[in-house]
Amino acid sequence: MQKKSLKQLSKTEAIKEIQEFFSEIKDNLRNNIKNKTPEQVKKIKTLAMKHNLKLGANKKLFCKRCFSVYKHPEIRINKKTKSMKCENCGTISRWKMD
Ligand SMILES: [Zn+2]
Repeated sequence: MQKKSLKQLSKTEAIKEIQEFFSEIKDNLRNNIKNKTPEQVKKIKTLAMKHNLKLGANKKLFCKRCFSVYKHPEIRINKKTKSMKCENCGTISRWKMD
């Protein structure tokens, strides 16, 4: 069966595609092997936006500006927020602590 391009996916297929993508990212990080390219991350993010899907915690896996997957980000934690600095472009992302 020919693989559909991301643009042709239904919402259900898109959800599956996105979940698989991020679980691969996590596996790659765990095994310390070459990860997704910023271009691939950007495509998945566009796909999620198109179907109005939330990335949730997966958003914390990559830089919001250059879409690089975080490998060794500088992490700072204080009472209310956690911040991560992208090692590629230097953008700092802040997250509220749960
Ligand atoms: Zn970045």
